[in-house]
Amino acid sequence: MRGSLKVFTWLGIPVFLHWTFGLIFLYILWHAQSEGLGIAETIWLTVLFMSLFLCVLLHEYGHAIAARRYGVKTRDIVLMPIGGVARLERMPEKPFHEFVVAIAGPAVNVVIAVILFVVISFTVEAGSFGEMLFSAVQTRNIGQEIATESGYLMSPTVHFFIYLAFTNLMLVIFNMIPAFPMDGGRVFRALLSMWLGRPKATRIAAWLGQVIALILVGAGLWSSDVMLSILGIFVIYAARAENDNVQTEDLLSRYKARDVLRPHFTRLRSNDWMLTAIETLRHGLERHFLVFDVNDRLVGILEEEDIVRAMRKPDVTSEISQYTQNVQLVQLDDSLVKVQNLIRQQGIGIIGVADESGKLLGVIDKAGMMYFVRMEEGK
Ligand SMILES: [Zn+2]
Repeated sequence: MRGSLKVFTWLGIPVFLHWTFGLIFLYILWHAQSEGLGIAETIWLTVLFMSLFLCVLLHEYGHAIAARRYGVKTRDIVLMPIGGVARLERMPEKPFHEFVVAIAGPAVNVVIAVILFVVISFTVEAGSFGEMLFSAVQTRNIGQEIATESGYLMSPTVHFFIYLAFTNLMLVIFNMIPAFPMDGGRVFRALLSMWLGRPKATRIAAWLGQVIALILVGAGLWSSDVMLSILGIFVIYAARAENDNVQTEDLLSRYKARDVLRPHFTRLRSNDWMLTAIETLRHGLERHFLVFDVNDRLVGILEEEDIVRAMRKPDVTSEISQYTQNVQLVQLDDSLVKVQNLIRQQGIGIIGVADESGKLLGVIDKAGMMYFVRMEEGK
């Protein structure tokens, strides 16, 4: 992800810190300044924040490990001040699987909180646990011994762990708000999908997600909680984007490669100069090309970006074969979802369509797909 720093890889998943993560330290300094915190209290606060982000990281690993069970890989985990994101390659399609993946994150925080509470209850004097919980949550700044009402003394360490456990529970409650695509919203969409199907369930969940997100933005502005407002805006965009994706995919799933293939297309020769490709790009409407050798065998594709790269250098006398990439072929009856996934995953602009015998019948390019989707959506 852009603007992120890789910190380590665990269980095969790289973990990144987004540059905005540094703002946390500014926030800590600002908070310490305005509350008049001493050095010890500031250090405790820093440790608390870092521990909290460790819990957020474990939460994201919860999603990632659950997803792995269903054969879905996680590209990376990115930590930002507003929380973490486990970027899954895709969402599992079965509603029950999505339900498990969504709930696995908050479940990790429940487990952390329970373990902390159990450990704390064993380490403090019998009978003082409830009172300590109460005082710990009421006193925000950690770093000093606190006396409870009945005179029990609570050390900063106990205070810290109670606070951490409590914050984990707050995280669970917050994440389970049904604001799609937050975890609660995913659980909601998964449950709704079992009954209404994925496209309709997503539309409803995304609508509810945006309404709740607007409320979060408002609440953030009202209580001057900037993070909450930013999160709300983030959710609004994410809900829209994911809904668009699901609706487009639903639309594409109803069509096959044969429905959009373009039978007439320009053929480039692998031993021609790049000049030919540059001229073809300049004077035509096509942006991506199939490349053939002298025996008319398909050998690759030539992408717009690569032609532009040659044009800028300038390099007009290299053979086209120096710039070609591997070609992907689909069959006439392959779903357009498959075509779109190939185009996205390989980052290519054009794909060949062949019949069962491997005979090339036409091409599908990105622009053609987008045009088709726009036409179908407008119906
Ligand atoms: Zn989560």
